[in-house]
Amino acid sequence: MSIYKTDSSLKSWVSVPSGSDFPIQNLPYGIFQPKGHSPRAGVAIGNQILDLAALYNQGFLSDCGLPESNPFSSETLNTYMALGRTVWTSVRARLTELLSEGNTTIQNKPELFYEQQEVDMLMPVSVPDYTDFYSSLEHASNVGKMFRPDQPPLLPNWKHMPIGYHGRASSIYVSGTPFHRPKGQTKPPTAEKPSYGPSRQLDIELEMAFIVGTGNDLGTSISTENAEDHIFGLVLFNDYSARDLQSWEYVPLGPFLGKNFFSSVSPWVVTLDALEPFRVQGPVQDEPVLDYLKFTGEKSYDIQLDVFLTPENGKESKICHSNHKYLYWNMAQQLAHHTVNGCNMRTGDMCGSGTISAPYEGGFGSMLELSWRGTKPIALEDGNTRTFIEDFDTITFRGYCEKEGLRIGFGEVVNKILPSV
Ligand code: MN
Repeated sequence: MSIYKTDSSLKSWVSVPSGSDFPIQNLPYGIFQPKGHSPRAGVAIGNQILDLAALYNQGFLSDCGLPESNPFSSETLNTYMALGRTVWTSVRARLTELLSEGNTTIQNKPELFYEQQEVDMLMPVSVPDYTDFYSSLEHASNVGKMFRPDQPPLLPNWKHMPIGYHGRASSIYVSGTPFHRPKGQTKPPTAEKPSYGPSRQLDIELEMAFIVGTGNDLGTSISTENAEDHIFGLVLFNDYSARDLQSWEYVPLGPFLGKNFFSSVSPWVVTLDALEPFRVQGPVQDEPVLDYLKFTGEKSYDIQLDVFLTPENGKESKICHSNHKYLYWNMAQQLAHHTVNGCNMRTGDMCGSGTISAPYEGGFGSMLELSWRGTKPIALEDGNTRTFIEDFDTITFRGYCEKEGLRIGFGEVVNKILPSV
């Protein structure tokens, strides 16, 4: 496996404010655009960004197995991700060395650094295909109770495989992008005929997505044992959903227009190497699984997740606190299942976890569950309430890991919802 640093005492000579998401133990990758310059890849350190394209051009990344043409002077991370885990790990080791306290190699090179607040963050990867899983037991049970009250909450297949569907990659945008309330066809149970108009049940889905670094050939599959070598890293993922469109359209083929209008990701991709200290044992899988879904070791990650809603000119309220570790199916099982039929994954493919609901109230990852399909309004700090998203609301997800004095974070994914056009 990979080399990693668990040493929380390791410090950078770059100043890192206390509580920062981006200490030297993190080093997440993103694509940024300084004013008047072309987009390029960088890593976050404190409030700054180290320009990897420039670092490469100045020769500081030689001996890392990188190709002759600069993989970082690109509008996406795909070229770099396709190089594979051995290269990712050597580059990480080199960056850690260059940024460590006491190393002066690039200390007198201010041209290599940018202030995060002075640049634009772009979509970090080009996504060829997007798949969304449904891997939270609590979320699947809550939805089952609401949508199929007369049946057991979990369908018979749920504990035998990670359920998923193919989503749409074209409408995934980076944090900061506003979007318009989707319109579509709905039919409340009380109405005789469907009608067309703005969704009245616009919702969030608290998810994380993993990004495939290296794929597999058509006809081959990826084992749970090797799966993590194919995963480059994770981002926060808000999979916006229109529940009224969804509940009318989803039988028999599943989600379609209620899901594909817009999803958003955080700009920094946190690598599995950085997450290594935060591995934990996942929930007990009490139904025996087929051999290809068996795994050994700790394959879940302790990542705390918060959701905030801010009304127009109002106060930010935390409406949910959950954790990635509650997911019943882990990423290795998801990738093994996705490829067990010979499906080929490609560099940049994004796999959503599915809504991550915790096993307690206040930990549900959608407003559908938090407001129990609109029957229990969610109280906000300023006295307002919500059942679903209203126009001009701003939704923010934040995620971070903390352990023994070490904190690394994902930054945030934030979007403002505008009225339908
Ligand atoms: Mn989803």
